[in-house]
Amino acid sequence: MQPREVTEVSRMLLEAFAEVDRKDILLHPDRALQNDQEKRLLSALELIASGTPVQYVLGKVSFFGMDIHVGPEVLIPRPETEELLQLALERIGRAQTVLDVGTGSGILALGWKKKRPESEVTAVDLSEKALGYARRNAEANGCKVAFSSMDFLDASNWSGLPVCDLILSNPPYVPQKESEEMAPHVLQHEPHLALFVPDDDPLLFYRSLLDFARSGVQKGGNIALEMHPPCAEDVCKLFSDEGFSSDIVFDLSGKERFLFAQKNK
Ligand code: GLN
Repeated sequence: MQPREVTEVSRMLLEAFAEVDRKDILLHPDRALQNDQEKRLLSALELIASGTPVQYVLGKVSFFGMDIHVGPEVLIPRPETEELLQLALERIGRAQTVLDVGTGSGILALGWKKKRPESEVTAVDLSEKALGYARRNAEANGCKVAFSSMDFLDASNWSGLPVCDLILSNPPYVPQKESEEMAPHVLQHEPHLALFVPDDDPLLFYRSLLDFARSGVQKGGNIALEMHPPCAEDVCKLFSDEGFSSDIVFDLSGKERFLFAQKNK
């Protein structure tokens, strides 16, 4: 960890486990911890020292102004996904019926619903455990979203889904072979189910999303997706070959990260 990160993580842990805020830490730097606070802080430090991401140790993150409960069964929300949501809100504006595919902790569905409460939002995920987090997050943030556990790759499950005006999705997209270059804190702690796709079929989820969109998206409806930058052109082609107006959008680090596609017919 960089020195600045150490200071930041220490502050977060002190705030969470010693129940002090930034001001208390500055004003009373030598205040003794109570016994149980010290115990909780020490066990949190042990987890951090063993490589557990601080977000899992704290059990929550902030996303789009919401407190989001996370644990090892769901991905830690990435800044790119916050960008996707911001871009979707700006570019698409309104949508009556919205579907989030592979919702994980629920962030895209909940972020959209928070800003556009008039939308009817459905969110699906293969993992029941992930949906447990998503449901809890929906309740804590006062958002009404319909959650459903399903294998979206199996088209026979789609009949219960609404025909939508907007699909939001951050599906698994990292080819398995890239796990070798991944940071250990990601590889050893985050759910592989949410990250990886087979090396020989990296567009798996995008093909399925396109198949669904043929009848599951209204004419004029939109699709906003997060992608693996090396696959961006291929994903874009998939949708444009099918007659969608498709647009790749760069993330803040200059990578081809998002696809915005609109169904024309
Ligand atoms: N962006 C994630 C990462 O950094 C991957 C998320 C995904 O596969 N959808 O690893």
